[in-house]
Amino acid sequence: MRKNRRQWTNLTQRRSPNSVDPPRPNNYFTAMSILPIVHIPDPVLRRKSQPIERVDDDLRKFLDDMLETMYDAPGIGLAAVQVGEPLRIFTVDCAQRSEDEEEAGDGQPIRESDQDSDREPERNPIFLINPEIVSFSDERSVYEEGCLSIPDYYADVERPAACTVKYIDRDGEQQILEADGLLATVIQHEYDHLNGVLFVDHISKLKRDMVIRKFTKIAKQSGKSFIG
Ligand SMILES: [Zn+2]
Repeated sequence: MRKNRRQWTNLTQRRSPNSVDPPRPNNYFTAMSILPIVHIPDPVLRRKSQPIERVDDDLRKFLDDMLETMYDAPGIGLAAVQVGEPLRIFTVDCAQRSEDEEEAGDGQPIRESDQDSDREPERNPIFLINPEIVSFSDERSVYEEGCLSIPDYYADVERPAACTVKYIDRDGEQQILEADGLLATVIQHEYDHLNGVLFVDHISKLKRDMVIRKFTKIAKQSGKSFIG
């Protein structure tokens, strides 16, 4: 299998053309913003995200802000619900990570050694709108995952080693992506977020309760209160 290389095919467009606005010419030059990332136990993280009905410039601006927020964190995946918007979209970029690395999820900082300081970091962002995982491999793999909504906590999670995901891209085109290695894990981690599922739901109840208690205490100490 190829390393972190996505294989994708353009499918025939199934949507009505009216559902997509063409990007404005200056779209890439508009300033991007870093959005605040929500942490557990914020109940928004448990909400089921809603499908996107229209791909337009407002959505593209939001996607660009999400990407910038993800790079800034730094992370390799970010779901809209993690910035408080329960919408079925997420951004992924595994370009700087090799398949051989043992960590995944959206919360792993990129180590110094991963980067050549003289060069611009390699980027390969993927924007997934209304994604649907259509198949999983029988083969499974284990990665140590982290999450931007659960800072500084990592745990081994076993998931299918490969998956195929259908989605609409930033230009409103239907895409299909066969992912393996780290990318497959990140896609499954982010996809879980759209259904209110966190990676700690895949670990033992004992460990999960411990981490949730810890973050609930931190939230209380910082004066935040969450209902639900
Ligand atoms: Zn996450």
